[in-house]
Amino acid sequence: MQDDIKRVAQSFKDQISSLTDEESTAHFEQQRENYDREYSAFIESYNSDECYLCGKPFKTISKSEPCVHWLLRRGKFKKKDFSKITDKFDFFNISAFLRWVANAEAGVKNINNLKEESSDRKLFETTIKWKNIEWTLDCSKNDFEGHAGSKTDFPHWHFQMRIDGNQFINFNDYHIPFSKDDQLKITLENDPESGFLHTFGPGGQGMQEHMDHLADDPDEFIENVLTTDNPEDGTVHMQSIVRGPKGGISGDKINEALEMARNTGKSLAHCFRETLSDDEGVSMSTIASPADSVPEIAKRSERKRR
Ligand SMILES: [Zn+2]
Ligand SMILES: [Zn+2]
Repeated sequence: MQDDIKRVAQSFKDQISSLTDEESTAHFEQQRENYDREYSAFIESYNSDECYLCGKPFKTISKSEPCVHWLLRRGKFKKKDFSKITDKFDFFNISAFLRWVANAEAGVKNINNLKEESSDRKLFETTIKWKNIEWTLDCSKNDFEGHAGSKTDFPHWHFQMRIDGNQFINFNDYHIPFSKDDQLKITLENDPESGFLHTFGPGGQGMQEHMDHLADDPDEFIENVLTTDNPEDGTVHMQSIVRGPKGGISGDKINEALEMARNTGKSLAHCFRETLSDDEGVSMSTIASPADSVPEIAKRSERKRR
């Protein structure tokens, strides 16, 4: 990694650690307000099929003004013009925009950034779905270092785009350089001592943040999650395992829970908790996993190093 990035990262860390709690709270609040303001502008334009960045309708592709909204492919955006976008917008700009549109359409389940499904060799591997489009943003540790001894010895990331399931941009078409700001954020994010956490604002959460939140407060989640008619539509699939006492659980109690779930739309896990709460010897565990509707991470095969 370049030395100047290391130096800036270190001075950032020093600065952060010298802040009082009040100062860092104020800083955080300020950031949140900025994001909130930007997000409201975004969502208002989004709802009228317009881009909040350039003010043009999504279907407008104006050569003189490259914009991230081209990636929505509502107009005749050509693959060879992709670098016009990346010349102007950096990794975090592009990621935020794609996450926001995906989230606006269907919530966190459109964004698969699950660490569990990602390889250890990757700094990130995120697949984002929006309508008939799927984008994957991918960066291995080797990419971030730059491929030594090659023309691509600079820190970069890779991008894939599919339209209706067909390849439109391939991972190997572009080695997209990270901006200095990107490099700083990624360096700090991967340094556990930095105390730095990047968020993509109110509409930027993906499945990983969602599952983290769930793990922080499973009870609240079980209570508030609603079951949908179609299990494929959900975000998280919940499986409850109920262990009864020796004599078993009464059929009535089970029916009661099933009926409660049907009538209230609350999760079965919650209803079992309610109807069985007084019973001795009943234990319940719930396993939460991402629903089938979450897109799979599109994998990039890396050429083996000799
Ligand atoms: Zn635009
Ligand atoms: Zn690469």
